[in-house]
Amino acid sequence: MTPERRKRIDRLKKIIVRTILLMILLPLTGCIILGIRLFRADRTMDRLTDQIIFLEGALQRSIDEKDRTEAIFRISEGVWQKMGREEENAQTAQEAVAAAGNDAAVKEVRKVYLTFDDGPSIYTGEILDILAQYNVKATFFVTGKRKEAYADMYRRIVEEGHTLGMHSYSHEYSNIYASVENFRKDLERLNSLLYNETGVISRFYRFPGGSSNQVSQTDIRELTDYLEAMEITYFDWNISAGDATSAPVSSEYIVDRVITEIPRFTDSVVLLHDAAGKRSTVDALPMLIEKIRALEEETEILPITEETPLIRHTPEE
Ligand code: ZN
Repeated sequence: MTPERRKRIDRLKKIIVRTILLMILLPLTGCIILGIRLFRADRTMDRLTDQIIFLEGALQRSIDEKDRTEAIFRISEGVWQKMGREEENAQTAQEAVAAAGNDAAVKEVRKVYLTFDDGPSIYTGEILDILAQYNVKATFFVTGKRKEAYADMYRRIVEEGHTLGMHSYSHEYSNIYASVENFRKDLERLNSLLYNETGVISRFYRFPGGSSNQVSQTDIRELTDYLEAMEITYFDWNISAGDATSAPVSSEYIVDRVITEIPRFTDSVVLLHDAAGKRSTVDALPMLIEKIRALEEETEILPITEETPLIRHTPEE
């Protein structure tokens, strides 16, 4: 065998061996790669399976949660309805109680408003002392007095919790009832006097002689319209104590007149006078208060306020 030939054979052998090795290695490598991929796929598959199981669980839980929420919703709806019904019941009960209370107030507590016209006078201090002693608040329809001593009375009326009303500055029928203009000037004069002395703007008025007086030369409607425009409320009376006469009356007479009349009304506005010469009115006051308080039906003594029923002689149009 020539060296040449041997070389060729060796080369061939090498080629054959390599080919065989290649034929073995290639599929083997392929198998390994496939194996690895299969393994990975398997693991992914496991993870996905786990995830599916987890999601199924979550889904089930959320379905349960939904059911539970719906159940809670149904329960709370029931509770709301029940609460609504209870609230309605409570309201009805409250209204019934309030209605009963109103009935009771109308039936049981009668109200008396003591009013003193024409002051201040020499008796105002004494009247205020008696009212304080009995803890009674009243209403004073005052006139214009310049005396310094009377300025103190205006102030005491306010400070001691009574209502300060106006009864014209001059109390001269011929002047104040001559025209609306005269009436206005007189009222403004008294109003500013009272404001300067007490710091209070009086909101109440009593016509000298009452709103039904026959002396006014001006239509009383024009005057009441003026008061309304000024937001001043006027009051007349439904019980007269009978102390207006020039001839003196006894204090017993005053007390009897008022006490006999009170049971006729739910609200009584009592006309009394605070003027020189009206001594018996002062003397009647303690007895009057005691007898009002001793009345069989419960009776309150109050000052006039915005809430007081309008007792007037001039009927509303
Ligand atoms: Zn008067």
